[in-house]
Amino acid sequence: MEADNKNLGELTSKEFGALLEEERTLVVLMAVGSVEPHGPHLPLATDTIISEAAMLRAQARLASPKLDVLLAPSISYGVTEFARGFPGAVGIRPATLTALLEDVVGSLLSAGASHVCIVNNHLEPEHDKAVRAVVAMFNDGRVAVACPLTRRHARTLSAEFKSGACHAGTYETSIVMAAQPALVREQTMLKLAAVPVSLSEGIGRGERTFIEMGMKDAYAGAPAAATAEHGEEQLELLATMIEVEVREGLAKVAVQAH
Ligand SMILES: [Zn+2]
Repeated sequence: MEADNKNLGELTSKEFGALLEEERTLVVLMAVGSVEPHGPHLPLATDTIISEAAMLRAQARLASPKLDVLLAPSISYGVTEFARGFPGAVGIRPATLTALLEDVVGSLLSAGASHVCIVNNHLEPEHDKAVRAVVAMFNDGRVAVACPLTRRHARTLSAEFKSGACHAGTYETSIVMAAQPALVREQTMLKLAAVPVSLSEGIGRGERTFIEMGMKDAYAGAPAAATAEHGEEQLELLATMIEVEVREGLAKVAVQAH
């Protein structure tokens, strides 16, 4: 394959087979997202779009003569209880998500991957837990989760993100503007008032839906302040997060192989 941007779903069986024969290490990046409301201005698939854009950047950084980095088709559904009551929240149960990920990740490893990094930018706690449960099942460096809820990654991101106003505000809107500008309803976005709600504080108080948290339009933070430049910056940081998780995972796998 001459293309640098290798996409597992776009390879033929023969091309994938040839890749395995090349004696290079194979890393697979796979997004797990959600279908849920992201304000009146962003698409339902926002979390998947964010992960896929960060993965493309991480893939370009990680790929080397010794390392093949493939993007696997995304798992586009997640646990979306917080968005209850809004049109377009289409979710699966936590146990379903864990079982699905366990099967797909296990299958990718059997197919020849040395390491699978699950990239998650849907931050609902039950979803995060269901994703991380899969890492615990393998627990040997072959599987990692790259998710900005991890403190050492979160601290690198924007002030708005760290305040907990991390749903469809400046942070996520900027990233979608950088990744898929045509999907941002910009005229609507510019008219949106800031909603200073911290999801992490709401969760701490036991609130379990956007409505309970006071997010009546399913967003928090300041979407109107979003820019593509800010989105590019944040995407680079999310790419670093993925890169760090993959390199640490590969180091563990290498230690076990000796
Ligand atoms: Zn989101």
